[in-house]
Amino acid sequence: VPLLLTDFLDRAVKLYGGKTAIIDDGKEFTYAQVGERVNRLSRGLADLGVQKGDRVAYLAPNSSEMYEGFYGVLQLGAVMVPLNTRLIPDDYVYILNHSETKVLFVDQELYAQIEPVRDQLKTVKSILVHGLETGNDNTFAYEEWLSLFESSDIGRPEMDEEDLATLLYTSGTTGKPKGVMLTHRSNYLHALTSMHHLRVSDRDVLLHVLPMFHVNGWGSPFYYTANGAVQVCLRKVQPADIFKKINAYGVTVMHMAPTVLNSLLQYADAHGYEKPAQEIRIVVAGSAPPPAFVKRVEEELQWEFIQVYGMTEASPLITTSIIRDTQKHLEPEAKYRLKAKAGYAFIGSDVRVFTETGEEVQHNGRVIGEVAVRGNGVMEGYWDNPEGTAEVIRGGWYFTGDMAVVDEEGNIEIADRKKDIIISGGENISSIEVEGVLYDHPAVQEAAVISVPHEKWGETPLAIVVIKEGLLTSEEELIAFSRSKLAHFKAPTRVIFADELPKTASGKIQKVHLRKEFWREKE
Ligand code: ATP
Ligand code: MG
Repeated sequence: VPLLLTDFLDRAVKLYGGKTAIIDDGKEFTYAQVGERVNRLSRGLADLGVQKGDRVAYLAPNSSEMYEGFYGVLQLGAVMVPLNTRLIPDDYVYILNHSETKVLFVDQELYAQIEPVRDQLKTVKSILVHGLETGNDNTFAYEEWLSLFESSDIGRPEMDEEDLATLLYTSGTTGKPKGVMLTHRSNYLHALTSMHHLRVSDRDVLLHVLPMFHVNGWGSPFYYTANGAVQVCLRKVQPADIFKKINAYGVTVMHMAPTVLNSLLQYADAHGYEKPAQEIRIVVAGSAPPPAFVKRVEEELQWEFIQVYGMTEASPLITTSIIRDTQKHLEPEAKYRLKAKAGYAFIGSDVRVFTETGEEVQHNGRVIGEVAVRGNGVMEGYWDNPEGTAEVIRGGWYFTGDMAVVDEEGNIEIADRKKDIIISGGENISSIEVEGVLYDHPAVQEAAVISVPHEKWGETPLAIVVIKEGLLTSEEELIAFSRSKLAHFKAPTRVIFADELPKTASGKIQKVHLRKEFWREKE
């Protein structure tokens, strides 16, 4: 039997048909209702001429419409292209033309991003707008259009697990987004291992904090659906609303970027935090969470923290810091130290760290190398970009561009992106490590460390820091603080204060922009 992502919804409809599947600001659908709507959607797409292999794009916030799109598109054998909601119209033109997308679904509020560039879209034949009451000649109102079609099962095309399921454009943290080709098989196996490592069950209520258009948010609708969990959409990330929804819907699990976690910690500091009636089973974070957050999340919010590490090119997750049952006896501080690492490979992923000369690094926590992965989730390559693919997939391994060490127990500890590492007087400095120390300072709300040129050392770390409201500190104090906790050559030699840091839609700090602003682009 081929491993097809549509299995997950089929299973949920059969096993959990009467159970709530998705809640989206007042709207609520059971798994049976989702199944019916998804059938209508597939029929509608077929009516628009969409065939197996065609690309269908979504530009939408986390919503029931986007959620049903996952399955409606895949049932037809078509390929989903989720679009980052924070790009500019020119980016949409680039991605839609590059992927040769045929049909575009767009949320009413985001349609203004498409309208002015509509005639530059070379392959998009139809546009369907979520939330629009009535359509016109070439723009369909989604609900009106959907109601035209029957909800009975569609005749599904013959499919293979190697067929493409999604073209996921990367975050663009380091440059132009690249179209990552992921198959049914890679997403399916990723979903199976994720539901195992995160112990997903039908008792779970997931709050979709991460955007569904980003690879991390993209994967979870598969494995939470397969297990009949309730999924609650968060259209906009606002701390007050997150806390409200946690209580209103009995949320048990969330995945989020560390910057969002940080804003929740700040909010709890300012407004207090009352533990909800249910247990928040886990909060999952990737993107280099500072160690200080692990302890605060576990002690102040009493949520179990789990670090994951991954990238679009790997579906995305490849390691996790999850504490094994045999480690439950560990002292809290020892657990926090473990959870501050990216951790151990997911089942089915072979994750190793290689030196520049191609040797695997020793498990001793000292030698640094580049993380490479092969196995379950790894992409087929970048869409229409064989050179880009050949640069990163070599000898069957995907080279991540991330530098790491491996401790005695085999846990991976990410040092930095290759492009972000600071080489000062011949020594490697991990910007993540320096940021981690700054986050330990009570006045620091956010910190980013980048490389800037230095006459004597070649490069030196510069910190850009946002201070917590109502607190004070100074450049001298932060430099002295860093020097007290780090080898002196790693401490920033300058600190610049800012009101905010530039971020991607998934909440990552865009060091590329900071480097441009503060002197130099590092290649
Ligand atoms: P682009 O490739 O377009 O520049 P991006 O790399 O930010 O964007 P993603 O695929 O969303 O796009 O992010 C993956 C990257 O995020 C990883 O390669 C790594 O650098 C970083 N990352 C993810 N999880 C962690 C983690 N737990 N610790 C440290 N870094 C992480
Ligand atoms: Mg990347």
